[in-house]
Amino acid sequence: MFRRLNKLFSILIMLFMVFAVNASFSFAYYSNYPVNNPTETELKNLTYEVFVWNSDQGYWSVSNLSGTAYLADGLQVWEFAPYSDDNDKLYSNKVAISDDFTDSWDALVAVVGDISVNCGYRNGFHNAAVGGVQYSQHKAGVAVDMTTPSGYTASVFATKASNAGFVDAHVISGTNSVHADAREQTGYPTIYTNTGSGLYVFTLEDALICNDYSPILTGFYGSIDIDEVEDFQQDNGLTIDGIVGSNTWDELTD
Ligand SMILES: [Zn+2]
Repeated sequence: MFRRLNKLFSILIMLFMVFAVNASFSFAYYSNYPVNNPTETELKNLTYEVFVWNSDQGYWSVSNLSGTAYLADGLQVWEFAPYSDDNDKLYSNKVAISDDFTDSWDALVAVVGDISVNCGYRNGFHNAAVGGVQYSQHKAGVAVDMTTPSGYTASVFATKASNAGFVDAHVISGTNSVHADAREQTGYPTIYTNTGSGLYVFTLEDALICNDYSPILTGFYGSIDIDEVEDFQQDNGLTIDGIVGSNTWDELTD
């Protein structure tokens, strides 16, 4: 009898461990990257979950793409995905991008030819590690830092980027690189409980993950996300209403 109870106890412990391991995998969006310190070849060989925001219609298209698939003319997925060899939490196989961005990118490539990318979409961990600003457009998947192609000065290249339709294009101070973005607005908008799908909802979900909360990363502000925001608001002494305005954004992106 005692041995049988002991065995039952062991099985319960095992079941608990299996559940605990599964739970940590399912929520660990940024620590389940398949390899640490990936080489360029490994980055190209990975499969990425790519979220493309349709700016006119207001919806996300989600697909699994290989690292060498193209997001736009000459722009491969792995080049735009967040990666760094600083910390394994920076790696992610989730990528956000918008069609406003790719339209401007294609128009710029048509003028200047191939462009080398330094940095595209960043998750919150990556943005912090590279010293990105708190309300970075890189975290919304609408920004890119590019090396100025030969034959251009950085300031002329920035002007070409503006002419191609990027909302903000400027030389990154003290470098030969240009930042360009297809932002919908400066800063991040208020996310209401009935916002539904939104470009910056993906940014919100990522920010929650970076704060160890567990939204569903879909770009749609659903009931689980709202619960997580309300938990975050409660834990941080904010008004508990599920509405992500400037106070909640400030805390989330701090
Ligand atoms: Zn930038």
